[in-house]
Amino acid sequence: MIPEHNFDSVIADRLHEECGVMGISSPAEDVAQMVFFGLFALQHRGQEAAGIAVSDGVQARIYKADGLVSHVFTPANLAPLRGSNGIGHTRYSTTGGSGARNAQPFLVETVHGPLAVAHNGNLVNAHELRSELLAKGFGLTASSDTEVMTLMLASAGGATWEDRLARTLSSWTGAYSLVILVEDRVIAVRDPWGFRPLSVGKLPDGGFAVASETCALSTLGCTEISEVAPGEIVTLRETEMTRRQALVPSVKSSRCTFEFVYFSRPDSLWDGLSVHGVRQRMGEQLARESFVDADVVVPVPDSSIPAAVGFSRQSGIEYNDGLIKNRYIGRTFIEPTTLMRERGVAMKFNALPENLRGKRVILIDDSLVRGTTAGPLVQLIRDAGATEVHLRITSPPIKHPCHFGVDMGHDDDLIAARLNLEELCAVVKADSLAFLTLDGMMSAVGRKEGYCNACFTGIYPVEVPAPRRKDSFEQVLA
Ligand code: SF4
Repeated sequence: MIPEHNFDSVIADRLHEECGVMGISSPAEDVAQMVFFGLFALQHRGQEAAGIAVSDGVQARIYKADGLVSHVFTPANLAPLRGSNGIGHTRYSTTGGSGARNAQPFLVETVHGPLAVAHNGNLVNAHELRSELLAKGFGLTASSDTEVMTLMLASAGGATWEDRLARTLSSWTGAYSLVILVEDRVIAVRDPWGFRPLSVGKLPDGGFAVASETCALSTLGCTEISEVAPGEIVTLRETEMTRRQALVPSVKSSRCTFEFVYFSRPDSLWDGLSVHGVRQRMGEQLARESFVDADVVVPVPDSSIPAAVGFSRQSGIEYNDGLIKNRYIGRTFIEPTTLMRERGVAMKFNALPENLRGKRVILIDDSLVRGTTAGPLVQLIRDAGATEVHLRITSPPIKHPCHFGVDMGHDDDLIAARLNLEELCAVVKADSLAFLTLDGMMSAVGRKEGYCNACFTGIYPVEVPAPRRKDSFEQVLA
């Protein structure tokens, strides 16, 4: 079956990271501005909603709304967010769906003072935990697993927030990189498998910042950057940082390989490795594995650019731009007209005929998800005058859904779960098609162990729920 191609299918045909999180504790009293700029650097991790919560030592205040970071915040709504401790969040929905009620951080009042939580990841046992809370008589306002975590934490026993957190962590199964705001500090914690990234660094004013990606810490001028270790609780209190290993890191460390393939910004470090450098090596490895004689190597911008440079370097075939992307098309809140929707991929990309006419083209893309974009892109390049188009993908075929915070649809959405290589090539109408092998991808990373590759292999690092439509969770709760 040929996938439907229109504006919505093109926008949906990417992997979506669930969220970006940010936290700051500093001697300054205007950390909200710093959180804003940190979130701005994490915008690629979620474009549906953004929020900031700040505490002045007594009272916590929050502002959150649907939209891009730069749309949500204005000088007027940032001004009341005064205080030395703050956390922030950019959201793309997975568990719980979109909508203002699921925007983060979640802020609640507890007997121990204010508690706000921002989460990147996805708990695989959220459904059970939610049922337990409801059975205990808790009222829930949202459908997100983050609210479940917040309420569990609020009601846990223990002398300090760190103690309450340490007691609660073992109930949570799955991916969580959390930043937590309480009245006088920011606390960061990462699940023992280490699925999603979280790093901490020292600010120029002596305070500390924690963020999903190191690019946000670099934006704020941080030094002494290190990862929050899997299972570690890190407390930031103005110029003090304390670290406590609360859970033994999982023997099966399970970092998400897709942070390298697509999600993370190329100027971030993941597992101490440059994302940009790994992407270039993926391109080099792809050229070794699936060379084809051609005239030009062209990336699908932007995430495939480093891999195309690597492919070109390894193969000796010239690199050039062949597609120009409108970077903001998926982020508009103005609904396109039917006519514009039908233009599909052309709404997002234009070809450069002067670089493609009469050429045999190797087109480099990072992944094939639903398969709705690749075919129209191949056609766009042919229409611009290319004589051959060979599609090369810098990751293995995605055949299984992610349960750890990445929205890639369900088994029946994933085109490589239904079709073999020959059939895929016929659907996208390329002259040839090849994927990077799993071994090749991991050799480009330079690690044999310690990574989750479940969406390629179907081997999940933790037990995942039986197939359940994503929206069944929402329907139960609506
Ligand atoms: S299943 Fe895929 S996308 Fe999800 S955490 Fe594992 S590698 Fe990352």
